Amino acid sequence: MANSPPDTVLLAGHLLDGTGVASLADVEVRIVGGRIASCRKSEGLPQDRTCRVIDLRQYWVMPGLIDAHLHLWGLEPGDATPAGFETRLARARQQARDLLHAGFTTVRDLGSPITPWIRDSSSTNPSTVPRILAAHVGLTGARGPWLIPQPSWWEARVVRGVDSAREAVRRLHDEGVDVVKIGASTGPRDEGFGDTPTLTVNEIRAVCEAAHGLGLPVAAHAIGSEAVRRCVAAGVDTIEHGYGLSHAVCDLVAASSAWIVPTLRTRAVRAAPAAQATARVQFDTLRRGVAAGIRYAVGTDSVGDSHTPHGPGNALEIELLGRVLTPEAALAAGTREAARMLGVDGETGTLTVGRCADLIAVPGDPRRDLSVLQRVAFVMRNGQVVRSDPTGAKS
Ligand SMILES: [Zn+2]
Repeated sequence: MANSPPDTVLLAGHLLDGTGVASLADVEVRIVGGRIASCRKSEGLPQDRTCRVIDLRQYWVMPGLIDAHLHLWGLEPGDATPAGFETRLARARQQARDLLHAGFTTVRDLGSPITPWIRDSSSTNPSTVPRILAAHVGLTGARGPWLIPQPSWWEARVVRGVDSAREAVRRLHDEGVDVVKIGASTGPRDEGFGDTPTLTVNEIRAVCEAAHGLGLPVAAHAIGSEAVRRCVAAGVDTIEHGYGLSHAVCDLVAASSAWIVPTLRTRAVRAAPAAQATARVQFDTLRRGVAAGIRYAVGTDSVGDSHTPHGPGNALEIELLGRVLTPEAALAAGTREAARMLGVDGETGTLTVGRCADLIAVPGDPRRDLSVLQRVAFVMRNGQVVRSDPTGAKS
């Protein structure tokens, strides 16, 4: 009966429903058919013994987390050359499971040929991996990012001109992607790749028009003012990394419908001076962007290597965002706002009636200490218990 979880009553010590209203103490969340049926003041253990009762009265219960930019490459720390596909698939599936156990109930993979396989092969059993949106492979211009000779963790396709760009989008659509990823600039800077634009405005616009016509959003790797300016002018939906931006370009982004996913974790965890210099630029741009009114969502750019293993550490991104945003805004960026950005806010991102029961329990108020997000004690996805630590949580 893996697909029809029993009716459940969950008792939350404190509930942050993710809508931005104040937390509530002693709440009973009723879950029917995997979705939230009601949230109301608890009157103790329910008398109705036909339903499953989960006691989370020691915890803070909140929406499941979202990582809107990562890569499931099936890497292992120290890997110099890619293993065979089956080995990488098995590792990447384990990493997806690790993410779910860490509280990430939705993830967007912005480049891995493996991830569509995981998405499709796991779709009938939602308690094994997060909800997955996948870009498969990226599109870029000649001399774009991801074309430098290196072990081919994933491939990029070169587009040359607007017809080629449209055709590349149609091919990705046929291949079943959820989002079109483009490389609009080189970068990262600290690896010596600079921030040179790699696609023309017309090429990016052709990608966006073709993708939007097929119902697909466009995510652009874009570093530096000129690349981001082109993305905004062309109608890109989400700007990935998005650092090294002038005040004027921050204002342009803020006035557009685009979001920025600042991917702070990958540089923050590296000690090398060049990486730390990039991190400083990232935070400077973030402060500038917040002042301008840009919308942000959480994405880590984690790849599962020794610097950025997939798991509890992905939640560090929310803590890093919280150094500039308010704790409430950082939490929203990893839940409600990320769901809006990904177009899945009708399904997840808040604990409101009708949404999927994608939720986590943490051992303290995350608004006071965002690091509790790295100590998730309980995870439910689509009403199915994924993880329940022995202390306090029973099912
Ligand atoms: Zn990435």
